[in-house]
Amino acid sequence: MPNTPHIAVIGAGPAGLFAAESAVKKGAKVTLYEAKSGAGRKFLVAGKSGLNLTFNEPLMPFLGRYSGQNFPKALWRDMIARFDSDALREWCSSLGVDTFVAPSGKVFPQCMRAAPVLRAWLKRLKALGVEFRPSHKLIDLVNSLDTTTLTFETKEGQFHAKHSATILAMGGASWPKTGSDANWLSLLERHGIRYYDFGAANCGWNVSWPEGFLEHAEGLPLKNITVSAGTLEVQGELMVTSYGLEGSAIYRLGAALRSMPSPLLTLDLKPKTTHAQLVTKLGKTRSGFIREARRRWKLCPVMAALLKFMPDRGPWRDASSLATEVKACQIPLLSPRPIEEAISSHGGVCWSEITETLMLKHLPRVYVCGEMIHWEAPTGGYLLQGCFATGHWAGSHAATHTA
Ligand SMILES: Cc1cc2nc3c(=O)[nH]c(=O)nc-3n(C[C@H](O)[C@H](O)[C@H](O)COP(=O)(O)OP(=O)(O)OC[C@H]3O[C@@H](n4cnc5c(N)ncnc54)[C@H](O)[C@@H]3O)c2cc1C
Repeated sequence: MPNTPHIAVIGAGPAGLFAAESAVKKGAKVTLYEAKSGAGRKFLVAGKSGLNLTFNEPLMPFLGRYSGQNFPKALWRDMIARFDSDALREWCSSLGVDTFVAPSGKVFPQCMRAAPVLRAWLKRLKALGVEFRPSHKLIDLVNSLDTTTLTFETKEGQFHAKHSATILAMGGASWPKTGSDANWLSLLERHGIRYYDFGAANCGWNVSWPEGFLEHAEGLPLKNITVSAGTLEVQGELMVTSYGLEGSAIYRLGAALRSMPSPLLTLDLKPKTTHAQLVTKLGKTRSGFIREARRRWKLCPVMAALLKFMPDRGPWRDASSLATEVKACQIPLLSPRPIEEAISSHGGVCWSEITETLMLKHLPRVYVCGEMIHWEAPTGGYLLQGCFATGHWAGSHAATHTA
């Protein structure tokens, strides 16, 4: 079939694998290149203890979880609507792996892990005719009128290939040992494509804990609290670590914290109890405030340690000021944890460089998808959903544009 487009997909993470599946199903011939010796390294890491595939909630709040500079809300809505969380669940079932919705709304495969999903997925891609070339690292790309010449570094030396369209799905910059090392930035820079520098997202933060605090709090959680950064407030959990704080609540506040000149978390340790109720519960206490508060307010060990050790707060001499602290306990943060540890990254190709089909404006017939593009979202399955939806969009458009 002389007119069949031959598409190269670069990067075998979830975005690239799904772009390959979408393109091949539209009739394209697809070759999938991957720098590492195997596919889906980060996908496997993500699904080691629980692969949170997507989130079960209506489209409008779902869309509100995504952000980024010059974020194209209408295009994103169209992409997610084209491949939404129900579609992702159906797709997973079609691989022979059913999913379930946890009480939190998070969606997981029944097997919980990514490995069985990936195995079935690769088998399907092979059956569909996708050619997989592992250990092929893209190092150069030259566009001519109707083909793109790609140069790869392989164990045997350089390898060149010509394709009618190319889908770049080389990931963001977190966990670089999985292959997402963002080395592709220099390649795109050579073509004049602008990007935002990568930084850690969905990550812990460093805190300078006061002396004595960690002895009582390290490794322990803060549950059922409200956490805010500026005007943004979330419910969730935090975990005290030797270097600072981790947990869903601080991950979700990452973008807000990064925008603050002096990042500061404010915790309401008893969100269901008012200040007045706390004061009443403490009754006629005249001394030993923390001990009494721990008993009567049911404070966990970390809460008690915060009240006892955080600098410039105590000593506590009345119930009202202690209740004020419990309702608005401030923790100054130093810096985000290194990107090597982060679940995801913010940064990547600017939206202004991309058309509505996810094609690069400066490189006709070259598309981008997944975490390479500048968008971010909290944990909860939103990251994988974004990768699948953009992979589907790029794969479908690449296949039909060149057909
Ligand atoms: C610890 C952890 C837990 C996570 N848990 C979840 C979760 O439960 N739910 C969720 O939604 N998300 C989760 N994520 C995030 C999710 O894994 C990512 O959003 C997703 O993998 C990004 O997909 P991608 O295809 O864009 O990029 P990647 O998965 O990073 O894949 C990019 C691929 O491109 C390859 N590549 C890079 N450069 C080149 C090159 N020059 N040539 C050829 N190939 C190249 C890389 O080797 C890699 O295989 C988690 C991430 C981590 C680190």
